[in-house]
Amino acid sequence: MSPRPRLPRQDCAHCGRHDRCTRIVLEKAVCQRCTLRFARTATACPGCANIRVLAFYDAARRPACAACTGNETVYACTACGREDSPWGRLCGHCALKEKTTVLLSGPDGGIHPRLRPVYDALICGPRPQTTLYWFTRSTGPATLGAMARGELDISHATFEAMPASRTNSYLRDLLTATGVLPPFHAELERVSPWLEELLSTLPAGQSEVLARFARWQVLSRLRRQEQHGTLTHGAISAARATIVVTARFMNWLTEHGTDLADIEQRDLDRFAEEHRARALALRPFLAWCARTGLGGDLSAATRPTTQPAVTLSDEDRWSHVQLLLHDDTIRLYARVAGLFVLLYAQPLARVCRMRADQITVDAVGVTTATFDTFPVELPGPLDRLVRAQLVERGIQPMAARNAAMFQLAASMPTPILAEVLGLAPNTATRWAALASRDWSTYTAQRDTHLRR
Ligand SMILES: [Zn+2]
Ligand SMILES: [Zn+2]
Ligand SMILES: [Zn+2]
Repeated sequence: MSPRPRLPRQDCAHCGRHDRCTRIVLEKAVCQRCTLRFARTATACPGCANIRVLAFYDAARRPACAACTGNETVYACTACGREDSPWGRLCGHCALKEKTTVLLSGPDGGIHPRLRPVYDALICGPRPQTTLYWFTRSTGPATLGAMARGELDISHATFEAMPASRTNSYLRDLLTATGVLPPFHAELERVSPWLEELLSTLPAGQSEVLARFARWQVLSRLRRQEQHGTLTHGAISAARATIVVTARFMNWLTEHGTDLADIEQRDLDRFAEEHRARALALRPFLAWCARTGLGGDLSAATRPTTQPAVTLSDEDRWSHVQLLLHDDTIRLYARVAGLFVLLYAQPLARVCRMRADQITVDAVGVTTATFDTFPVELPGPLDRLVRAQLVERGIQPMAARNAAMFQLAASMPTPILAEVLGLAPNTATRWAALASRDWSTYTAQRDTHLRR
């Protein structure tokens, strides 16, 4: 076998670097880096209308695909032939199938029968790269692998015996959502006795109010979620946290000799000042008080007047923000969606439904996003990412108004997406605090600081 001839170095026709240019793109030799970038630009071929890498000229000198121009299909997945989702020699879909099959195979080969729904959930979705990324960053897949090989029981008990972590609770949610594990009856059932015990520590009047709030508002919501099969471990934890904060608030009122009915704005301000991290978790309770006529009009109090501080415990959230702002290996849509959730406390589901017309770019490039009612100016470098996302998804005049900006929720298992985006189950509550700040200065400052 003769060794492959080494190509002489030359100037890349695209980036100008002096390097070995291994591929011919549109009749010009380009370097490997440019080839890789070019391979990710598949678009509709004028000859066959398939989504292909248009690296060749057709008879009419239009860029067209290999098949339409009689060239070797060097950009195609070696398993299925598609060119729109490159992942090494394969496409993302085939790479993901291969990896998932290996991961979920039992000792006697073949996918573990109980984990079949997990396989189906993992391989579906228009963006296999996101799941492939999860494979490399999370410890969740290792746990799934151990379950497939029979080293771990596929049960809620397994998760209860494992250390509590975000990854574990996402995985548990995934197994529950796909029906591999039964719904969280047991965990939900444990909330009631826990609540009774908590209530017994409170003075009668307060215990009565908290009991009504907890049973009619918090628990009934969990029950509804259970009936719809959408109850998650995260939701139960968040519900417990809400109840605990409300109980603390009531204790605090007693210590200050204030009755719930007489509570005023300045009491809430004081509580918010003393309990920065917790004040926001009071929102459900205050909203409930307002609805039920308890404690007068407290609606104004749901927004603390003191600015919440970014505490040390928020550092890991910031590292996710940094990662999403600067790591070009993460898909752009995931970066933008993740940043919307982390910086603006938007629920993931709402971000996924966003349309291109919720983003405006004015003549001088000021970019705004309208999450619900009023437009918010996006700070750099987030604004650049958002504009790039608009270009990447391709704005077609007819489709733009209704097209979703992020077509990622449709079939991507939410727990996995949330983990890839680095979101804790209660992130929305915690970040609501930060979202009320003026972000344009804050992100910019923080960003320069970290890059120095
Ligand atoms: Zn190049
Ligand atoms: Zn073609
Ligand atoms: Zn393929």
